[in-house]
Amino acid sequence: MNLILMGPPGAGKGTQAVLLVKQLQIPHISTGDMFRQAMQQGTELGLKAKGYMETGQLVPDEVTIGIVKERLKQTDCQKGFLLDGFPRTVVQAEALKGLLGELNKNLDAVLNIEVDRPNLIRRMAGRLVCRQCAATYHVEYNAPKQEGVCDVCGGEVYQRADDTGATVEKRLAVYDAQTAPLIGFYQKEGLLINILGNQKVEAVLQDILQSLGI
Ligand code: ADP
Ligand code: ADP
Ligand code: ZN
Repeated sequence: MNLILMGPPGAGKGTQAVLLVKQLQIPHISTGDMFRQAMQQGTELGLKAKGYMETGQLVPDEVTIGIVKERLKQTDCQKGFLLDGFPRTVVQAEALKGLLGELNKNLDAVLNIEVDRPNLIRRMAGRLVCRQCAATYHVEYNAPKQEGVCDVCGGEVYQRADDTGATVEKRLAVYDAQTAPLIGFYQKEGLLINILGNQKVEAVLQDILQSLGI
């Protein structure tokens, strides 16, 4: 299956993506994770993305589209893929459409996880991420067994710099202005599935699987 996971920052896209790809055996393509990894490694891509990410703005479309294009061409995407956090602008969605056409692929569904603002802010403020494997935790809802240590790989868990203070508000405003229009875009394409995100992780996953007929 060729899927997109959409939703505002903190909605639970990454959390659901990890569970879904395990079940569906398809690659998880998170542009946010790709950028964070590049920043950590100090690559050219990382340097390009850094300033935008730290201030809660979107990385320019041409840069983002470029990395997704390369990724989707890789052979493991032949069995399907789950895009998480891409597209985030109408320009990216149009580019993706063109690219999938070139690659002879179709989207099966766009899953839009809906969560109210107070909960989004709570989820972002408490989010912890593993530096090594990108596993996601929450100080309150899903804390690592040992404080500061990833359950999966033993790596160090940290709070993302963009999950604090004014950057959270900025990212929500950027979502409203640039990403929310994609809901209408994919509705018109007949691909949109709304998912109630204000539920326990397991209940959200069950709703997603059910909506996909799995
Ligand atoms: P969240 O999970 O909170 O929605 P992500 O990890 O997906 O955040 O993204 C973190 C940051 O990486 C974004 O604020 C943005 O700067 C950058 N980014 C990720 N995906 C994209 C994209 N598709 N287009 C532009 N910038 C992106
Ligand atoms: P996104 O990728 O959409 O930004 P994440 O999957 O990183 O969102 O989740 C944001 C935060 O909320 C994380 O700390 C995660 O552990 C937590 N979280 C995710 N889903 C739920 C849920 N259904 N209920 C409570 N907390 C959740
Ligand atoms: Zn880890």
